[in-house]
Amino acid sequence: MTYVIVEPCIGTKNASCVDVCPVSCIYEAEDMYYINPDECIECGACEPECPVNAIFHDSAVPDEWKSFTQKNRELSGLA
Ligand code: SF4
Ligand code: SF4
Repeated sequence: MTYVIVEPCIGTKNASCVDVCPVSCIYEAEDMYYINPDECIECGACEPECPVNAIFHDSAVPDEWKSFTQKNRELSGLA
């Protein structure tokens, strides 16, 4: 289980989530930020920081953005 960054981050990327993550597991990709699911400790600190509500627990990702769970994994270099 992990938190996941989804579509509204694309083009926004204001990075306010990055500063609050206690384990520094939020990384920058070309078009968005992403969370490494192997490093996330599910503290939830990042979720309320996002101004465009782009962060969800993986059990609560809206249907239209389900593919982003895998995208965060792939951007992290995980299968
Ligand atoms: S839930 Fe906590 S550990 Fe996971 S990415 Fe957000 S701030 Fe970092
Ligand atoms: S706060 Fe939201 S928009 Fe900003 S980088 Fe994090 S997930 Fe993306």
